[in-house]
Formats: sequence, C-alpha cells, structure tokens
Amino acid sequence: MSIKTSASSIAEIDLRALETNLHQVEKYVGNKEILAVVKADAYGHGAVQVSQYLSKSKRHITLFGVAFLEEGIALREAGINDPILLLTGCPEEQASEIVQYRLSPVVYDLCSLSVLSRQAVKLERKVHIHVKVDTGMGRLGLPPAEVLSFIEAANQLEGIEIEGILSHFAYADLKEQAFSIKQLEAIKNTIAVLDKNGIKIRYCHMANSAAVFHLAPAHLNLVRPGLMLYGYSSVEEKTPLALQPIMQIKSRVLAIKKVSAGTSISYGRTFIAQRESLIATVGIGYADGYSCALSNRGIMIAQGQPVPVAGRVCMDMTMIDVTEVPSLKVGDWVTVIGAEGGQSIWADRVAKWAMTHPYEVLCGIGPRVKRIYLTV
Ligand SMILES: *Cc1c(COP(=O)(O)O)cnc(C)c1O
Repeated sequence: MSIKTSASSIAEIDLRALETNLHQVEKYVGNKEILAVVKADAYGHGAVQVSQYLSKSKRHITLFGVAFLEEGIALREAGINDPILLLTGCPEEQASEIVQYRLSPVVYDLCSLSVLSRQAVKLERKVHIHVKVDTGMGRLGLPPAEVLSFIEAANQLEGIEIEGILSHFAYADLKEQAFSIKQLEAIKNTIAVLDKNGIKIRYCHMANSAAVFHLAPAHLNLVRPGLMLYGYSSVEEKTPLALQPIMQIKSRVLAIKKVSAGTSISYGRTFIAQRESLIATVGIGYADGYSCALSNRGIMIAQGQPVPVAGRVCMDMTMIDVTEVPSLKVGDWVTVIGAEGGQSIWADRVAKWAMTHPYEVLCGIGPRVKRIYLTV
C-alpha cells in the first residue's frame, strides 16, 4: 500500500459507504424524515466532511444533529445551510448566537424559551425549537405532564416556532424492550394530549439507531440515526441491514527488533517474550484513542495476519508481536481497525477487548490520526 503522509496513523473514511449506509436506512424506514447525528465530530469521522458530503448527496437529510453550539457554528462556517438541531439545549448566554447562526435548539425550560424569544425578536428572525420530553432517560427534558403547559407558554412568545417534539431511549441498545416500549407510550400519550388540545407538531422523534432497526413503532415521523450511519450496530443481534463500517485505521511500523526469550516489552514489563520473537513498534497509542485497556489484549493485522499487542499500550506507540510475519518492514502499515487480506477487526471487536462500546472507540480516535476521505 502506498500512503503518502508523514502521519504515523491514518483514518481512511469512505464517504461513499456512508451514503450507502444512509440509503439503506432510508429504504428501511420508508417515508420517514431523517436527522443525521453528526455530534462529537461525527463520531470521530469529521462532522464537516460528513455533513458536506451528505448535504450535497442525493439523499435527503431533514436535519443534522449536533450536541453543542460550537459544533453547529463549525457546520455553518463550512457552508452547511441545512437545518441543524442542538441536542443538548440552549444555555442562556448562547441564545444570541443560536439565533444568529440559524440553529434549532432542543428546549426544556422556560428560561431558555424567553431568552430565545427576546433574541429572535431583536434579530427579526424566527427560531425553530424542538421540545424535549424526559420519558425515562433522566438526562434532559420536561416530565410528560408539563409538556402541554410549556408548549402553550411557548406559543405565546414572539419569534418562537415549535417545530419538533422528541424524547430519548435509556437503552441505546434496546436491551430492555419493555422499558423502551413504556417510554414510547409516554411520548405517544404526550403527543395525543397535544393533539386533543389542537396542537400539531411537525416532527415527532425518538428513534436512535437501535430503535431504527428494532422498534418500528418508535420511528414516528422522523428518525435520528447516528452509529448506524458509520456502519455499526449497538445491538447484539444481527441487524437487518448490511451496514459497512466507513473508517479504517492504519498505523505505521516505526521499528522492528528481534528479542530473545525472556525479554520484557513496554512499561511495567507485563509482557515477557516466551520464545525468540519479532516485536514491531507502531505509531498509535492511547493519545490517539487506542486504549490502555488493549494492553496485552488487542489484535492488529500485519500483512493479512492477526498480530497481538505485546505489553502496555503507550501514549504514542504500541508494540505488537509479529514473529509470524517475518517479512514485515519498517515503514509498512498495519491495520488497527479495518479489513486486510481476508482478516478484519472492526471497532465493535476492539470495543469488546477494551470493555466498552463502539461509540467510545470511534469518538476516541484522536486528532493526530490523519483523516483521509474517499469520495469517488
Ligand atoms: C447521540 C444521539 C442519537 C444517536 O444515537 P445512535 O445510537 O448513535 O443512533 C440520537 N438522539 C440523541 C438525542 C442523541 O444524543
């Protein structure tokens, strides 16, 4: 493989595969609107590049979803004109920028409502808000019983347009279906109460990736996929779609040495060579998101062969036992996440070794890992 970069690790991100994943989701949910979740730098894939690509693609994205103001501003400054939902809400001091950048905040308190209204009037704009309901996540949102009076109050305010109502599942993997269904019933009842009072809201949404796959009644009229767009499932069972992970991580071999049996490798000497061994040092470490938990547990792929991590993962480097791959050379690239020569190691497997979930592995890929985008 010829990779021209001075970086020690690269992330190759296939935006065409991203579009294919999205297209599969579209077909699967039928005629529902889609909010593409691109928070946390699009789960480490690059929010600007991902959003620009999707925005220009044939697929229709109703909204992009980010967590914080800065993420929304970054998308606007990169020329994204589509509606953007701020999923965490509207701190008072951010109201003016939220209106100025035409961002749509999630709202769940009267204080944010009134500052948003004031700013909207001042800038002669309308701010589109989505009302958040806490149906059991215990994180953000109004109790269902307070939603009607909140919306009636919002409707009295100038400059405020209620565009959506949403809630969020406590089980991102839907492990407890019964609890998830209770949450779904709570949002549906809330919508029914609004309906009875003559209040119709354009977008009703609750479904994250797991619910997109496994809880069709939660699709309502808009779905909020994140993880699945990047090619992963948070659910143990087989997913009904053939999603493709869109990011592969490769790391450069910085050094190779032959060591005799009994030689210790890395901090704390937790790995002792049991035989004469070839040890390669590669340029990725915990500062790049390759977790310390992968010490003596992780596996990489060198020339199509699985090779185990030897000893503790360091900040910038990791050692691997390449005794079975004697032709590996300094300057070669090994696959840390991805597929090579019939072997594959994807982020969900790395997550298991590190005793976490694929979300954390993907979001954790640090800024030193150079992103390279495949678009044609
Ligand atoms: C992150 C997030 C999502 C996306 O969840 P996935 O499991 O990645 O699909 C949806 N909704 C909200 C409110 C979120 O914070």
